[in-house]
Formats: sequence, structure tokens, C-alpha cells
Amino acid sequence: MYSPFKQHLQQELNAIKDAGLFKEERPLSSPQGVMIEVRGRRVINMCANNYLGLSSHPAILSAAKAGLDRRGYGMSSVRFICGTQDIHQELERRIASFLQMDEALLYTSCFDANTGLFETLLDERDAILSDELNHASIIDGIRLCKARRLKFRHMDMNDLEERLKEAGSARFRIIATDGVFSMDGDVAPVKEICLLADRYDALVMVDDSHATGFFGPTGRGSAEYCGVLGKVDIITSTLGKALGGAAGGFTASYHEVAVMLRQRSRPYLFSNALPPVIVSAALEVLNIIEGMSGLRERLMENTAYFRREITRLGFTIREGIHPIVPVMLSEARLAVDMAAALLEEGVYVTGFSFPVVPKGQARIRVQLSAAHEQSDLDFVLQKFGKVGKTLRII
Ligand SMILES: *Cc1c(COP(=O)(O)O)cnc(C)c1O
Repeated sequence: MYSPFKQHLQQELNAIKDAGLFKEERPLSSPQGVMIEVRGRRVINMCANNYLGLSSHPAILSAAKAGLDRRGYGMSSVRFICGTQDIHQELERRIASFLQMDEALLYTSCFDANTGLFETLLDERDAILSDELNHASIIDGIRLCKARRLKFRHMDMNDLEERLKEAGSARFRIIATDGVFSMDGDVAPVKEICLLADRYDALVMVDDSHATGFFGPTGRGSAEYCGVLGKVDIITSTLGKALGGAAGGFTASYHEVAVMLRQRSRPYLFSNALPPVIVSAALEVLNIIEGMSGLRERLMENTAYFRREITRLGFTIREGIHPIVPVMLSEARLAVDMAAALLEEGVYVTGFSFPVVPKGQARIRVQLSAAHEQSDLDFVLQKFGKVGKTLRII
């Protein structure tokens, strides 16, 4: 039976390759960090979500090792059977208090947090208003839910208002958005969204995966950046980016929402508890970001420096202040060639093209980290300049 199915898969895969969309994995033979080893060469990494440089930070490694010694390796259980340790609950309290929310619950990923959210809380009597560029996990979460879905144009508050009117007869309305969108590094207008939500009796859900821990004046994310900390009803986020980068996600909200999710959210109920190693390390991550580490400031300085200097070289970037810096190249081919040439020069970046970004808007997405030294950035800028001239981009 496999033979016709195999043929079918081969055809599909060839179509993906022909469209230039096939994703190759380039294995690292080193820990994640500023300097990584790829195919036997040491190169500078400019595309990790390692915003605070905590992925292989010595304090995090020690906390993880101590967690392994004190609480073991695996839980071999979901949370409600015998998979909840004291440290799981401690981490949930720490996350909630950091975000100034009532309560938080852990998932093994933010993807799970999002897919387990909507269908648990809403049904066919309700409506979900979703930004058209929302992350795949929000989209999937909404698909699993029977509520009516209304898409609004990306960050367009007039369109959102129209959709809110359209959803006027629903029992409950919830607006769902990324806090920061990963392809452009643009920040959702969370304050305006909260104002509209007030006016039209809607709840607000923000997925802050690209913001939690480093964005906003004290790293509390897009709500803090927009001046509405504590006003968002539901925040989901990941431990897999700035907060250590290993794995795990969470939902933070009101007490009753958290209690209901613990009772009914399917990925929470039917998937294994987060390993103690990760929980212990994540507690240390919170100690670091709530302390005077200076990492956030460092990240913002690096971001401002890189944005200024890459523009000065003649490249076009998406304006903004987020450490995601999209260097716009328009053609897919050019993005691929540029990334390959930069790797030859010792700089690891990835080109993004359709369908990840709109046609004709191919780009290299640079991501800054607090762990980058100024000398690293100068090296990278020099290589961008060199390759940019060779490829006649600047
Ligand atoms: C990365 C990301 C996720 C997925 O997080 P995981 O914890 O890796 O599952 C979800 N939402 C957004 C907006 C993201 O950027």
C-alpha cells in the first residue's frame, strides 16, 4: 500500500522544492549562543530567539543542574495525577506576579497554551476577533473552537471596530493578537485594542512570546510597553524564547479562567508535566530578569546600535525598536543568496520568503541578543556591507 502514497509524498515534496520553499536544517554541534559551531565552523549567530542570552547562561545551567539533582529528570505524569511538584506551583506564582496577573498555568509549549485556550472557554454562542497575521498556534487554537471567527486586517483598529460591531450579538467576544509579530517585529496597539474592547464589551488575549521578559520598561511585555499592564485579560507566552529558550509555555489570567483551564484544557490535562530541570531553570530566569541584571538594557542598546548602523550602510529595514530587525531584500532568491554568502563569511542568518512573508517582501530577519558584544555587531555589520556590495544590494 505504501507505494502510491510514497509517490504522492514525493510529488508534494518536489513541488515544495521547486517553489524554493524546502527548509533544510543545519545542525549545530555546539550549545546555543552568540558563537555556534555549524559544519565544523564557528560562526556568529544572528537569528536565535535568545534575546537575553540566557539559553546557555552559566547561572541557568547551574539552576538546571541543581533542579535535576533535587527534583529528578521526568515527571512521568500529567499534572493532575502525580505530575505537580512544589516548584511547578512556585513557577506559576512567579510568572503571574511578574505579569501582574491573578494566576498562571504551565504548558509544555506556548503552542499548547494557545491550542488549549479558546475551545475550553468559548463555544458557538461566542465570537473571536483575530488579527490576520496571528501566529499559527493562535489560528489553530481558534480552529479547534466552535466560536465564530472574524479576522481583522493587521493592526487595523477601524477594521477591528467593524468586526466588533459585526459580532455584537455574540454572547462573549474575545480579541486575539500577537503582542509582537515575529516577521516584522511590529508591536500590536494593545492600548487601542483594550479601549475598543471596553467600548464593545470584549475580552483581550495577547500572545506575548516575542516580548515576555525583555520588552517594555521592565520587560513585562507588550502590555507594559503600551501602558496597559494589568488590563489585558489573558496573556499566553513561551519559555522557549527570552526565558531560557528550552521549552514550555503558559497562560496567565484571572483565577476562574486558570481554574477552568486546569479542569478542561486538553493539552494541560492530557500531556506530560514540564520537566523539573526546565522549571528550576525558569525560576532562576525570573530571578535574573526581576533583578538588576542589565540584560534588557544591553539588548536595547545592541538593537538601537544595529538598527542605526545597518541603515547607515544603505540597507532598508522595517522601522521599529524591537530586536527583530527585518532587512528587506524583496526577491526570495536574493534573500537565500545573501544568507548563504553571509554564512561563508561567518555570520549565521536565515532568509525568509513567501509564504512565511508576503510575495515580494523577502528578507533576512536579524535578531539581536543581550549576549552580543559590540565587536560581534561590528563584525556582522562589516560582513553585511561586504556581501551587500557583492550582491549589488547597497
Ligand atoms: C514562538 C511562538 C509560539 C510558540 O511557542 P512554543 O513555546 O515554542 O510552542 C507561539 N506564539 C508565538 C507568537 C510565537 O512567536
